[in-house]
Amino acid sequence: MPCCKCEEYEWSKPQEVVYTDPERGKSYCLFHAPKEYKYENIHDKSLVSNQDFNQRVFALIKPDGYETQEMRGIVFPGDINFTDKEMRFNRVTSAAKRRFSFEESHFHGKAIFKGFHFGNVNFTGCIFESEALFAESHFMKDSETKVSFKRSIFKTKCDFMSAKFEVSVSFKFAEFHGRTDFVNCVFENLAEFKSVKFIGDVNFFSCYADYRKIHIRSAVLDNVVFSDREVPFFIFQGCKWPVRMSLERERFSAAQDNDILPSHFFTALEDLYRSLKQMAADKHDMLKLSDWHYREKLFKLISEFSDDPLAIHLQLFENEKSSIKERSLHFVKILFCRPVRKVLSATFWYWLISGFGEKPFRAGGVLLSLILGIWFLLGFVGIVSSKSSLLIQGLAAPTWENIENFGTVFMTLFKNIMLFKTTAIEFHAQYGWANGVVLVFTRLIIPLQVALFAFALRNRFRR
Ligand SMILES: [Zn+2]
Repeated sequence: MPCCKCEEYEWSKPQEVVYTDPERGKSYCLFHAPKEYKYENIHDKSLVSNQDFNQRVFALIKPDGYETQEMRGIVFPGDINFTDKEMRFNRVTSAAKRRFSFEESHFHGKAIFKGFHFGNVNFTGCIFESEALFAESHFMKDSETKVSFKRSIFKTKCDFMSAKFEVSVSFKFAEFHGRTDFVNCVFENLAEFKSVKFIGDVNFFSCYADYRKIHIRSAVLDNVVFSDREVPFFIFQGCKWPVRMSLERERFSAAQDNDILPSHFFTALEDLYRSLKQMAADKHDMLKLSDWHYREKLFKLISEFSDDPLAIHLQLFENEKSSIKERSLHFVKILFCRPVRKVLSATFWYWLISGFGEKPFRAGGVLLSLILGIWFLLGFVGIVSSKSSLLIQGLAAPTWENIENFGTVFMTLFKNIMLFKTTAIEFHAQYGWANGVVLVFTRLIIPLQVALFAFALRNRFRR
């Protein structure tokens, strides 16, 4: 009985059977046998060493052959290094014409293709139990079809660092369980990542592709790392975005460890979010535009603070997952530990009173406290109304008269805020400055906050 897998994968020369599965009655050759049953032959049950096995695999490869090399479905029991110096077949001149099909191969050890030159190659449905190392490999142009890693499963580290794809490559339905590096990788043609699972960190930092040549569709992007430089290379469709990008989470864990990072770490995030914002704007995705705008400004603010612990407090305050008590503590520190020289930072005030024009509840809350604050202050301790004017008396205990007066004071304030011309309220303040304070609050500060509130409301709900 021939090897069942040689038949299934249509090997031109079916190999000698070394093992028969007693339960299923299926026979396997050395290459296709499960890794525990790599016997010398059907009678000799001594196991073939990994080194011998690899040599036999290399012997399958025709040195200058133009036919597809038969590698389909091979079960590799241990590490295999295809870039071994002994492997003379890896000559650049003929590599482009050489076809490899590793379809549905199972690599139990490391699969090392470091610096390898591939022509036509197919890794569809491969399982890499250990590291898959394709660093500095070169997928050459003359291939007739695209390189395929469809449905491949990378169970640990996967390294495409500085690899170069001259042809298009597909990773459809692939799973990346460990850390994956596409750092410095070059995609000269289309790279498709459709319905992929990015379970470990996948790093596209410093990769290069033509404009919008890396297509990521229907994927969860929590663990994808890239900077603003790489954003123009991508098209994202139907993806699930995280609240904070992976690059930010690295900075955040530094903050949790109380490490003060230099400002360019945060400027890089500001740049990343700005480019994502631009991308959202191009796609008219208003909801994401709001989110990225907020984060862009947040990191502009944090980069202003980056040389002191305020950067840490700000990041920890912005962490929605921590308790209200913890967040309040950080908020108090932000408010009261600010160095005087930074009090005038416009970005800080923009953040504080309106969440960069994106947080209507915060803007509304500030507005309400402003009105309530001044109403209480004036109503209880300051103003007595007379028929045509208000008298600011200075501090006084709340008396019944004051409480009665409360409504009148509120109406006066309200009219003042709404800029009713008819009221023309005259203030007879007991202290000279009181008149100015009332005017500054009711005619300038409160209307400004009303505008910010309306702006934030519109930003949040126009989308
Ligand atoms: Zn076989």
